[in-house]
Amino acid sequence: MDAEETLDPADWDEFARIAHAMVDDAVAYTRGLRDRPLWRPMPAAVSEGYRAPVPHGPSSLAEVRRELNERLMPYPMGNVHPRFWMWYMGASNLTGALGDFLAAVQGSNLGGGNHAATLMDGQVVDWLKELLGFPPGASGTLVSGGSVANLIGLTVARNVKAGIDLREEGVAALPRPLRFYGSDQIHSCHQKSIETLGLGNRALSRIPTGSDCRMDLDALRRAIADDRRGGWQPACVIATAGTVNTGAVDDLPAIAALCRAEGLWMHVDGCIGALGALAPRGRRLLAGLAEADSIALDPHKWMHAPFEVGCALIRDPKAHLRSFTLTPEYLERASRGIASGDWLLDYGLQTSRGFRALKVWMALKEQGADKFGRIIDQNIDQAHYFADRLRALPDFELVAPVTLDIVCFRYRPEGVPEAELKPLNTEIILRLQEEGVAALSDTTVHGVYCLRAAIANHRTRRADIDLVIDAIRRTGAGIGYR
Ligand SMILES: *Cc1c(COP(=O)(O)O)cnc(C)c1O
Repeated sequence: MDAEETLDPADWDEFARIAHAMVDDAVAYTRGLRDRPLWRPMPAAVSEGYRAPVPHGPSSLAEVRRELNERLMPYPMGNVHPRFWMWYMGASNLTGALGDFLAAVQGSNLGGGNHAATLMDGQVVDWLKELLGFPPGASGTLVSGGSVANLIGLTVARNVKAGIDLREEGVAALPRPLRFYGSDQIHSCHQKSIETLGLGNRALSRIPTGSDCRMDLDALRRAIADDRRGGWQPACVIATAGTVNTGAVDDLPAIAALCRAEGLWMHVDGCIGALGALAPRGRRLLAGLAEADSIALDPHKWMHAPFEVGCALIRDPKAHLRSFTLTPEYLERASRGIASGDWLLDYGLQTSRGFRALKVWMALKEQGADKFGRIIDQNIDQAHYFADRLRALPDFELVAPVTLDIVCFRYRPEGVPEAELKPLNTEIILRLQEEGVAALSDTTVHGVYCLRAAIANHRTRRADIDLVIDAIRRTGAGIGYR
């Protein structure tokens, strides 16, 4: 009879040797980040390799490692680099990477049950609640990211405000259509959530913002009153703590008061800003956050946890459970043994869940929450430094006020006609990316196209900001407008 097979190594010592070498690779890689290009285009030979057919036979782990070092690791997105400021991302961290590794080594399924990882998952949620000043009795769940964290919050909001047993009856049974409100700066994931929840995009009312990019509360009040007259049922205000375009924070205390007065659910999309609560400067900008009925936050952004980990917090744990609990016969709970304990699958959509808590737990334990707070404030200070420098230069223009760590601006040398500013600025950031110097993104704020630097990066130094300003001017001059 053939020997029975396993995926475990045939030679444990050889495996250990290569595994240790891979850890050495990882440390050297991270240590050398600043000296390598942030990003580089892939040669065709590399990209073609990703169309190779499925390997039916084996390769040695040493060969696998070599291939990764040649074809994968040199071509990252770049968000681990000190001058990556596109969109809004974290910069990862090696302790968190060890967390993902150990989570996989233990291999536990965080659907729940009676084991230590379940307790750690709950502890990380408790820590995040405490850091945000959210009540200890609230519930929460770690999810893939902010998009799903928002979906969880909006689902509970919909079910609570429906006035019917929405899980049983469905949206078709709603006596009046529900209406949700967010500013015109709201993140696109909310539209997807509202669509997924069966309410339709029209159910998400976009309230205008002023020049500060914060929701206009008079316009919100008018929209709610008009909707009540028009046969809608106002259900939920989605306040944003840190908008994706400019980092603006809606007036949370006023929105909380309005929601109380109107009987609406207050959800805060804090994917960018909520973790600012860890920091002295950030906290001052987030008054009212803890008054929310639900909050979405994103440890894989300003806490730099390796992707993926987001978190939904819900003030009323019963409402949270009522939206997601379901116990089929094959998941009956036991009073003892592995199937006793907490079942985390009752708090969301996933049945099997990864052990996302470990990477957050390890980094918090090693660094302490105060250090995360200091780095968050450091990023806010750097954004203000960036803005101050641009204000002092005649060929730059700030396009929006800086609140958190996002700077929106354009390069505008004298003599360049308005219509040429967009192609000029776009060309500059593409060149900076292709040269591997820096990564900025672009957006349009109240009709003005601009460049955007979101400094959610624990590796950024002020000197990097100086370097990028110089690089923009040099590149802009090279394009030939001055
Ligand atoms: C990033 C972001 C999201 C989506 O979060 P993911 O983690 O990317 O799924 C939602 N809202 C805001 C304001 C964000 O910045």
